[in-house]
Amino acid sequence: MIQHDISLRQTAPLCKCGERCRVIESRGRSITDPRLLGTPSSTYHVECMECGIASVPQHSVGVALHAWKTGNTVDTAKLPMVRGAIDMAQIKLRAVA
Ligand SMILES: [Zn+2]
Repeated sequence: MIQHDISLRQTAPLCKCGERCRVIESRGRSITDPRLLGTPSSTYHVECMECGIASVPQHSVGVALHAWKTGNTVDTAKLPMVRGAIDMAQIKLRAVA
């Protein structure tokens, strides 16, 4: 997985603590499974390094910014676990489709 700070391309919001947040693009998956072929593999999140929180990763920047704005956040330490859960949810969706 490769992560890029794309804050310069996006308008990064201010955190409640006053720090400028970072908008992060994560390319690649947390897990490898052939059932994930053809599904989105990049996720985006907004994070404040000072507070150690991030928006729940999303497949679009706009939804990630909305998640940050509405307080849909997690500890940055839990981001890998959340990304894994997102991939597992896609596998389950494919199974019922
Ligand atoms: Zn903060």
